Amino acid sequence: MQRKLPSKVLSQREKILWLKSKTQQEGECWVWLDGLHSQGYGRISTWLHKSQAAHRAMYELAIGPIGKFHVLHECDNKKCINPSHLWLGTQIENIKDMQKKKRNLRHKLTDEDVMQIRRFKLSGITQSELSSAFGVSRQSIWKIISGASRVQI
Ligand SMILES: [Zn+2]
Repeated sequence: MQRKLPSKVLSQREKILWLKSKTQQEGECWVWLDGLHSQGYGRISTWLHKSQAAHRAMYELAIGPIGKFHVLHECDNKKCINPSHLWLGTQIENIKDMQKKKRNLRHKLTDEDVMQIRRFKLSGITQSELSSAFGVSRQSIWKIISGASRVQI
């Protein structure tokens, strides 16, 4: 299915957002074609010489307010602004919660934890954030990410 402009009346900024990404199929990455931030994210100009990351602008447009959270890429493509590939950094807060509850029961990371750690890392979450979220040392996180441990997962 080809991507279409939404039927509601769009603001100028919304139109720019929509049109400055490469038109792609529904499930694929919508690659930002205009300017980039130094970190590699798409950049959209706003008023007063300010700019905003294009994926954040798209998240707000398509899904809702971001608040103080990070908008993360599930697809590890910083230029992608497909809202279905974006999720809020609140999810790591949920993981923290879950891990805290499980911590009394066990001391080892499950295979699922390991996969989550690798996915979070790709989304730009730091090793120290991951270490505190999962309740393991930064060295353990590093080993998992670098493939020095749990290679089979
Ligand atoms: Zn994507």
